[in-house]
Amino acid sequence: MQAERNTAVSAAHAAGQLAMVIRREAFQQEDTMEKIGREPVTVADFSAQAVILKMLAQAFPDDGVLAEEKAEDFTRLSGERTHAQVLHYVGQAVDQSVTADDISTWLDFGRGKGNRRFWTVDPIDGTKGFIRGDQFAIAIALIVDGIVEVGVLCCPAMPFDPARPDSSGGVIAAAVRGEGTSLLPMDDISKQHAASVTTVPDPEAARVVESVEKKHTDHGFSARVLEEAGVGGDPVRIDSQAKYLAVADGRAEIYIRNSRDGHVERIWDHAAGALVVTEAGGRVTDLDGKTLDFSRGAYLDANRGILATNGPIHDPILAAIEAVSQR
Ligand code: AMP
Ligand code: MG
Repeated sequence: MQAERNTAVSAAHAAGQLAMVIRREAFQQEDTMEKIGREPVTVADFSAQAVILKMLAQAFPDDGVLAEEKAEDFTRLSGERTHAQVLHYVGQAVDQSVTADDISTWLDFGRGKGNRRFWTVDPIDGTKGFIRGDQFAIAIALIVDGIVEVGVLCCPAMPFDPARPDSSGGVIAAAVRGEGTSLLPMDDISKQHAASVTTVPDPEAARVVESVEKKHTDHGFSARVLEEAGVGGDPVRIDSQAKYLAVADGRAEIYIRNSRDGHVERIWDHAAGALVVTEAGGRVTDLDGKTLDFSRGAYLDANRGILATNGPIHDPILAAIEAVSQR
């Protein structure tokens, strides 16, 4: 899987750099478009996905893809200005002049192929964090026969060195099943070191991350679970799969997510992050302790919520979830 891993790292890196350029230069709040279901989408979502899928198509032309954005939405939602911006920024990233047809072809590459081997891509995970100027992630995973084999997260707004929270640069986490997770600084991806979760043994000392958006997770539920388990501090709220990176890199011990209003989790929001954590030595299940089932298409519809931990803390938190859920 080395070729797959390296291609995913290059694609996530290119998309992450592009997203930061767009956020600095071009992004304005009013540029946000709304998809069905009122989820926001921006120039950066379409641009990043076009760049990523172009690179995947070039390296692995036979693979399938399940990615968040659709060519149809690009055509339907983007006005003249955002359309031109996507052509400009993608052209800059791929170093060639680009037409709207190129963008549409790349955005939909591999869609609906139904392969047993496919990539799942969230070009800008945590779009709301991207818009707010907070955390977001580029997420790319390869799934073969329902098993995540490669997972790459690029978090451009996360410091590489947690001891220096003001240092910019961004961080990439790259995992291959059975081979561990490595961390690469975005400003020099030839450097890397192994990621590993902490060995914190009990909930009292655990640090917790959860979503910023109260629509995406039930903050009240996690507060009850953490109190039941005896976790001391308050959760830190971070957008996107940067939460999984935080657990994998020993910056936190627990990521808990309980969706609201019957929302079923999408695979592109979890496949890369889950492998990044398990390959760093952690554990990932749903809130009932079940393995995440990535064999069912776009949705994790056999699972309820997410629990990712450093490992030792997992069972005590599952017990607290059970106690709270039975009340
Ligand atoms: P986060 O940044 O962790 O809050 O997660 C961002 C992701 O939440 C987005 O990519 C959406 O796919 C997903 N999402 C959207 N609506 C919901 C919802 N009601 N419950 C859970 N996740 C959602
Ligand atoms: Mg997402």
